[in-house]
Amino acid sequence: MNIEKFSDAIKYCRFCFMCRHLSGIGNVTFTEADTPRVRASMVYGATLRPETLTNEDLIRTMYRSDLSGACRRNCVHHFDEVGLTLAYRADIVNLGAAPEAIKAIAAELENWKDWTVSGSGKVVYVADQYSIDSGAAAAFGKLAGEFQTIQGGSCGKGLYVLGFHESAKKVAEKFVNVLSSTEAETIVVSNPAIYDMLVNTCPELGITVPGKVMHSTEFLAEVKCKPLGDIYYLESDFLRNYNDDYAAPKALLKANGANLHAFGTNDEESYSCAEGAVVLDKIEPALVEKLANYIAARADHPESDIIAVASPYTKVQLKKYTTLNVKTVEELLAEQL
Ligand code: SF4
Repeated sequence: MNIEKFSDAIKYCRFCFMCRHLSGIGNVTFTEADTPRVRASMVYGATLRPETLTNEDLIRTMYRSDLSGACRRNCVHHFDEVGLTLAYRADIVNLGAAPEAIKAIAAELENWKDWTVSGSGKVVYVADQYSIDSGAAAAFGKLAGEFQTIQGGSCGKGLYVLGFHESAKKVAEKFVNVLSSTEAETIVVSNPAIYDMLVNTCPELGITVPGKVMHSTEFLAEVKCKPLGDIYYLESDFLRNYNDDYAAPKALLKANGANLHAFGTNDEESYSCAEGAVVLDKIEPALVEKLANYIAARADHPESDIIAVASPYTKVQLKKYTTLNVKTVEELLAEQL
C-alpha cells in the first residue's frame, strides 16, 4: 500500500492540531475532517480495520483536500500530509474503489486532445488552457522573444493527483515526447502545476524531461517595464509549497517597481483556490467558489486592490467567482511595457 510510505504523517499528524488554521477546505467548511489531523486519524483507523479503507465518507473527504501544501510547509517537522492524501488516492484507485465521478474525470483527462506545436526557436512555451484563458499566454507573447508554443493537450498532473498514476505516466510520456520533438533547450510554463509536473512528478514516474524547465517569471527576469506600484501578491501553492519557496515571481515584481503588500491575515495560508488539487473545480466546484469568496473577504480594498498571481488557475477561479482585480504577473508586466 502506498500509504505505508507515510507512516510518520499517520503517526504524528493524528495527534496534532497545530496547522488546522492552514487547512483550506477546513476553513471554508468548518469541518474537522478537512484537516491533516483528522485525515491522518481516519487513515490510521483504516490501517487497523482495512475494510474501512474504502469507506465512502473517507474517500469523499480525501478527494476534497485542497492539497495546498501549506500545512506541510509550515509544520515544524514538515510531515508529508499531502503525500499521505495522494498515496491514499492511489491506493483507492489500485483497489478499484475510486468513485464513478472521479473515474469519469480521469477518463476525460486521459482522452484529452493532443498537443500541437507552432513557432520556432530554442525555447518552447507551454500554453495550456489555464494560461490561455487567464491571459498569461498572450502577455508572455508580448514580453518574450522568439519561441515555439505547444498547446492544447494534457500534461498528466490532473490524473496524478486523482491517484491514476499509470494513466498519468502514459499521458506525461506523450507530453514529454512532444516537448522533445521541438528540440528546444528551455521549456517555459506559466502554469505552476505543469512546472511541478515536469520538475518533480515526471522524475518520480521515471520520465526524463529534456531541457531546462523554468516558470515564466524566471524566464522573464530581464524584462524591464514602467514601475508597477502597489500590488498584493498571492503565492502559488506549487511554486512556494512544493518547490522550496520559488522566488522568481516576487523577485520579478520587485525588480519592476512593485510595492508588495501582505495579503490576508498571515503569510502562511494558501490563497490559491486549491491550485494544489488541480481539478477540485471538477470534483466539487462549490468548494472552489467558497475558497474564492474566502479570499475576496480578506482583500483590504476588494474593488480597487491590484492582485497579482503566478498561477493562471488561481486567476481564472477568482475571476469566475469574485470581482477582485486579479492579473497574472505576465499581464501586469505587459501592460506597463
Ligand atoms: S502537518 Fe505537522 S503541524 Fe500539521 S498536523 Fe501534521 S504534525 Fe501537526
